[in-house]
Amino acid sequence: MPDKLKIALTPGDGIGPEIMEAVLHIFTAAGVMDHIEFIPAEMGEKVFAKGNSSGISDEAVATVEQTGLLFKGPMGTPVGGGGKSINVTLRKKFSAFANLRHFQSLPGVETVFSKAGVPVDFYVVRENIEDTYGGIEHRLTADVVECKRLISAPGCDQVHRFAFETAQRLGISEVTCSHKANIMKMTDGLFLERFRQLANDYPEITTNDVIIDALCMNLVLRPDRYQMIVLPNLQGDIVSDLAAGLVGGLGFAPSANIGEAVAIFEAVHGTAPDIAGKGVANPTSLLLSGLIMLRHIGLAKQAAIINNALLATLEDGIHTGDVKGEKPPVKTMEFAGAVAEHLGRMPTKCTPRVVGTQDTVSFKPPTRPTNYTLRRTFENVPTQVCGADIYIGTTMPPFELAQKLQQVSEHGPFKLTLLSNRGTQVWPSGSVYTETVDYFRARFELKDPALLGRIGLMPTIHLLTKVAEKFDVTDFQPLKMFDGKPGFSLAQGQ
Ligand code: NAD
Repeated sequence: MPDKLKIALTPGDGIGPEIMEAVLHIFTAAGVMDHIEFIPAEMGEKVFAKGNSSGISDEAVATVEQTGLLFKGPMGTPVGGGGKSINVTLRKKFSAFANLRHFQSLPGVETVFSKAGVPVDFYVVRENIEDTYGGIEHRLTADVVECKRLISAPGCDQVHRFAFETAQRLGISEVTCSHKANIMKMTDGLFLERFRQLANDYPEITTNDVIIDALCMNLVLRPDRYQMIVLPNLQGDIVSDLAAGLVGGLGFAPSANIGEAVAIFEAVHGTAPDIAGKGVANPTSLLLSGLIMLRHIGLAKQAAIINNALLATLEDGIHTGDVKGEKPPVKTMEFAGAVAEHLGRMPTKCTPRVVGTQDTVSFKPPTRPTNYTLRRTFENVPTQVCGADIYIGTTMPPFELAQKLQQVSEHGPFKLTLLSNRGTQVWPSGSVYTETVDYFRARFELKDPALLGRIGLMPTIHLLTKVAEKFDVTDFQPLKMFDGKPGFSLAQGQ
């Protein structure tokens, strides 16, 4: 037999070690361990406790880089303080840009939809790296904090292409993009625009888009309307948990984080501290994530056999305590034992997984790049400076502030065209009913449009310096035209 494929393994915190033991018991019984070897990767609460604020040891990073695969249990995030979520760090560090989750009604798991005879079976593809999850946050004034929401064209392209390719592979005929492009016209607008652009490469797949709020209502009313939904990070995070609720809770939702080089497979739920150590946790979510991993590396036959055993076990009414059922609940390892005993059996009340012939490893570990990879979508885009937004911390009323800023910009190439507060225009026109806080945006634009393309960034920096002499400047954003189109949004009411 060829060398076994190495996979980094972290049991995780809380219920993590219990559910991981259960999954490995099933893997061993199904002969999976003849093909793979788990290499321990140390991360989580124990690493935080050693004073490592990333929660991941350097050795663990190296193991994941070498294997290109990580199978992990849930890990706790220290609340407050500087400690960031390891789960988010891992996805970002290894560019696992697409989060794939499958939500499917399971036999024996009663939900409002199973009772109504409505089958639920759809995938969510969530962008995993960008959006507010950049975690770029600042306190700007005494009263205002901000979170920068970055969406990039290459980031959108990667996740949309992954969604279309996965849909093709799984025989999914329709992919829906969900967004809030009616409000966030530039960020969600780009996400939607790139979806529509890439859809041209997959003419056999029907595409659709839906505003996120409408999607949430549709999912609760008719979840069988969707086959695959692709979303930006934060919206995808929320919809994923909503979708988990539709199929019986977090204990049943598997998750894979896929990148070009590294893929991470994990349960959707957390460490469940309330039941940790009691041996009662449901290992299904981690097991289903493990099955996505087995298909990813080529062990599709083993994955289908285990999947059918799981379905047959659930059909027999065997369940852990988090699931309602007629029979008394079993403990975590008893459940794993039952799945192992059901290996080779087919479910009879639901569609079994097709057991194919692919039963050897096809995955190749990644070759380590020698440098950071730069991804581009739009190159050589002509840009022209046309103004600047200067953000100011002040409690001054808008008309007084406008007067002072007009004096500051009197002799330069820019004139004040707008003051806004929390995104709403308060000068030159507005409503006194617009309540304000201590943070204003002052927009300056070219006095003479003929200067467009003839000035660079320096005059905006000069203006910034003059404003900073009189005001508490909190941030600064040059305004540019890209390919002749404004690279900035209008204010509400402008
Ligand atoms: P949680 O998912 O751990 O628990 C929510 C509820 O669901 C609890 O009542 C719990 O008992 C139950 N539950 C979760 N998984 C279960 C399972 N397999 N079987 C039976 N019941 C289960 O969410 P939380 O309490 O908000 O978070 C606890 C910790 O987990 C936090 O530190 C959080 O940061 C972390 N977390 C980690 C991940 C991850 O590793 N991917 C995801 C979410 C939360």
